[in-house]
Amino acid sequence: MTGCGADESPLSPAELAERKMQFLFHLRSKGVTDRRVLEAMEKIDRGAFVRGIFAARAYEDMPLPIACGQTISQPSVVALMTQALDVHPRHKVLEIGTGSGYQAAILSQLARRVYTIDRFRKLVIAARALFEELDLTNITAITADGSHGLPEQAPFDRIILTAAAEDPPSPLLAQLRVGGVMVLPVGQSDTVQNLIRVTRTEEGFDYAELRQVRFVPLLEGLGNE
Ligand code: SAH
Repeated sequence: MTGCGADESPLSPAELAERKMQFLFHLRSKGVTDRRVLEAMEKIDRGAFVRGIFAARAYEDMPLPIACGQTISQPSVVALMTQALDVHPRHKVLEIGTGSGYQAAILSQLARRVYTIDRFRKLVIAARALFEELDLTNITAITADGSHGLPEQAPFDRIILTAAAEDPPSPLLAQLRVGGVMVLPVGQSDTVQNLIRVTRTEEGFDYAELRQVRFVPLLEGLGNE
């Protein structure tokens, strides 16, 4: 990955400012109304998480390729998932699927502590470097198979998956605090998946379907990079 910060961007500062304004306007038009989520989306520059030839498209509402054959999610989906997760300042949050680190960075603005796991070491190392550069000190990025969760830090107030499983992995359900919320895409890969919200109650789990989405699959074991 080559360095490609704002100073190397092909966009002029005025164009960049205009695109960022349009970006936020577009999020609102997609139903992102939570003020804290919008503030986090404004503060965390998606341009920092998209490198190389795709950097100029960072403010477009589309997924973009990152290293290891993965993608940074569409920003309106990041915002809507974050809104559905309803993160509070005292929460401890677990994300499965670090990818570029963008979603974790957004969560870091809303939560006390964020743990994020990816099966590719290369992605975790790059995300860690970015978190340090951006001074996001409340994120811990870990290389592991996230379907087992992170038992040593459980229970979590909030859990978010940014890769699609056929069903919510049972270790993750077990690591959700009573009253806690998990947001995840479920369904077969390469078909339309459903974004669902699972709430843990004293008696069990409540499920709500939110919308259709398309994510890369949750895979077993570690990646080869
Ligand atoms: N949240 C990311 C986008 C995630 S793309 C962002 O903001 O950029 C989905 C990610 O899930 C990929 O990086 C993929 O490697 C990861 N992934 C898939 N299966 C996994 C598993 N079992 N454990 C941890 N990460 C996994």
